[in-house]
Amino acid sequence: MRPAKMTPAHQTSNLAELVCSNSFRSSAITNAVGLLKREMQILESLVIRCGDEARVPAGDAFAVDRERFSAVVTQAVEAQANITVYRDEITSLDYSGYDFLVIATGPLTSHPLFNAINDFLGRDGLYFYDAIAPILAADSLDFSKLYWKSRYDKGSGRDYLNAPMNREQYEALVDALLTAEIYPLHDFEQAVHFEGCLPIEEIASRGIETLRFGPMKPVGLEHPMTGERPYAVVQLRKEDLSDEYFNIVGFQTKMKVPEQKRVIQMIAGLENCAFARFGSMHRNTFINGPKHLTPTFQTKRDPRIFFAGQITGVEGYVESAAVGLLVARYIDDPTPLPYHTALGALGRHVAESSPDRYQPSNVTWALIEDVIGNVRKSDKRQRQVERAIATIERLAGEPVSA
Ligand SMILES: Cc1cc2nc3c(=O)[nH]c(=O)nc-3n(C[C@H](O)[C@H](O)[C@H](O)COP(=O)(O)OP(=O)(O)OC[C@H]3O[C@@H](n4cnc5c(N)ncnc54)[C@H](O)[C@@H]3O)c2cc1C
Repeated sequence: MRPAKMTPAHQTSNLAELVCSNSFRSSAITNAVGLLKREMQILESLVIRCGDEARVPAGDAFAVDRERFSAVVTQAVEAQANITVYRDEITSLDYSGYDFLVIATGPLTSHPLFNAINDFLGRDGLYFYDAIAPILAADSLDFSKLYWKSRYDKGSGRDYLNAPMNREQYEALVDALLTAEIYPLHDFEQAVHFEGCLPIEEIASRGIETLRFGPMKPVGLEHPMTGERPYAVVQLRKEDLSDEYFNIVGFQTKMKVPEQKRVIQMIAGLENCAFARFGSMHRNTFINGPKHLTPTFQTKRDPRIFFAGQITGVEGYVESAAVGLLVARYIDDPTPLPYHTALGALGRHVAESSPDRYQPSNVTWALIEDVIGNVRKSDKRQRQVERAIATIERLAGEPVSA
């Protein structure tokens, strides 16, 4: 719709405008986003090809000259004989007369269309901001200082790990949260926070006891060996798609990345924790994928309607472009790519996460299916990469059948 109607973040009329960083993140193939880019390249992604043309030196990262990049994408799209670019705001979901429809209006989808999508989804499961808690790698935690327990012993008993705190530790953590540097809110992000999902530092600012009566409540979490109730507890919840990662319950945050590391590593048991994903909070329009979408990004209500890009609940330039590539494929052949590939893992996240806790995600190793069998830890990543690439190379060589 740009430039006829602008969003609060975009500044040009070019397609594929990078609104913030100019980086497509790591190009190391043992990094999940590096693997994703490699898979996209094998499937001849236009975005990766244009990124290569606009690439600038940035060490291990894949960074681009943003103006050149979006100019190259715009030219490439406009040069396609079978594409017509209309620059209008779409305000309704009138799709009669089309064989299929792809909606890819991103995190800043305009309000009339937001309302139309919301109606289409039965006003259940379309959100306008995200609240992401950090995810930690299990093998970086000190289990000797943590214990398994669900509140009041509900659940399997091994769904939550608890980091107990005494008063001194709790007050030091609250103090660190209050003094941590945070990312400033953009104008268009003001007042997006619901009371039920505030940033952890905002909760801390409401009073020294607020966290202890909120996400760090110790009631029902008495230590299984001693029966003692800690002064406060930080709970780690298993990521539903893997046993190797935990998210920190209630720790959605706007703290800057180095500050997240500093503050969270103050928690006993988490001193050396490795972050699979940092926390964040943004204005972000996205659909509750597990409620409404299939692993091929079709709506459950009508398989002719696809969503693509960040609105599906993936996060980031590369992931959004990857979903575009997948949807183009699924229009012809709605067979989901295997979950051991980084591309397939995005469909897994969107369709098979828990609908109650669904939040946007970058591609991470927590989403990509493990290699099964007796594999040494040091070899595991390499095996995952080899298996994923072999699968994508095989698919690239096969015709996409309707
Ligand atoms: C402020 C901000 C900063 C970000 N920073 C980063 C970052 O540093 N790194 C990163 O990886 N990701 C970042 N993201 C996320 C990034 O924007 C997305 O990952 C990516 O651009 C999403 O791609 P997309 O194609 O889904 O949506 P977009 O790139 O947003 O494209 C959607 C397009 O749809 C148009 N549109 C919206 N509503 C309508 C309508 N009703 N009718 C017609 N057109 C419409 C918009 O104008 C837009 O051009 C940021 C997002 C925001 C909002």
